[in-house]
Amino acid sequence: MSLDGRTCLVTGASRGIGRGIAEELGEANATVAVNYRSSEAKAHEVCERIEDAGGEAVPAQADVSDKAAVEEMYGTVRDEIGPVDVLVNNAGITVDRKFENMTREDWDRVVGVNLGGVFNCTKVCFDDLKRAEEGRLINISSVVGQAGNYGQANYATTKSGLFGFTRTIALELANEGSTANCVAPGFVRTDMLEDVPERVQERILDRIPLGRFAEVEDVVSMVSFLAKERSGYMTGQILGVNGGMEW
Ligand code: NAP
Repeated sequence: MSLDGRTCLVTGASRGIGRGIAEELGEANATVAVNYRSSEAKAHEVCERIEDAGGEAVPAQADVSDKAAVEEMYGTVRDEIGPVDVLVNNAGITVDRKFENMTREDWDRVVGVNLGGVFNCTKVCFDDLKRAEEGRLINISSVVGQAGNYGQANYATTKSGLFGFTRTIALELANEGSTANCVAPGFVRTDMLEDVPERVQERILDRIPLGRFAEVEDVVSMVSFLAKERSGYMTGQILGVNGGMEW
């Protein structure tokens, strides 16, 4: 179940879920490009951890919402480690506000990163994913894209947007034997959840049948499965990892 010889680009891999994914893929012997926006020291730490475990990793700075920056990052990654076999579109942000208070700027910021970033990164890697022996596109959505969530009209819209994107790209990659899938986690213990006020966290917890928030590892194991050869007959799927909140 190794990813020996596979090259992976994980966006937003300096912290949280992306970090967990990058480390797991590195542990499975993939060569990993660790994208980050501003947490340079943390991204270098992730690379060191992968290398200490015998893997290979390179830091890859770019704000994914910036098309030119992503093109430059991709050029560097390709020079350093070669074409991308597995792209994990994980980078994402929230700017939460009730819709009546949400500004167009709040909307554009979230759309720019969560959908614009996915466009930019998939665009630069698309030929690689087609040419790869069983390329893999894995998009990280959210249960909020399935169910909606109070104060997250912008975020929910971007996360359900990924469903249509994933299904369409799955069709466009299928002739080449490459796949595109979407993982929709529930609420996961990361900095993003830390930003949610405690009383709101308690209300969310009441809605989770399994009675706990997800750990990063719960999501990582699904992504790791999708990245590997054994997921080869699955494409265009939305996979919930949400403690039973939604299906
Ligand atoms: P997080 O802890 O806030 O980490 C976000 C990561 O994304 C960081 O590495 C950050 O880099 C990077 N990032 C943010 N904006 C970026 C940009 N413009 N360009 C490049 N990188 C950027 O988030 P998380 O909780 O791990 O979430 C990861 C993904 O899972 C997101 O797509 C999120 O929507 C989704 N998700 C999260 C949860 C949850 O409860 N946590 C639930 C469902 C889905 P820097 O460190 O450099 O800022």
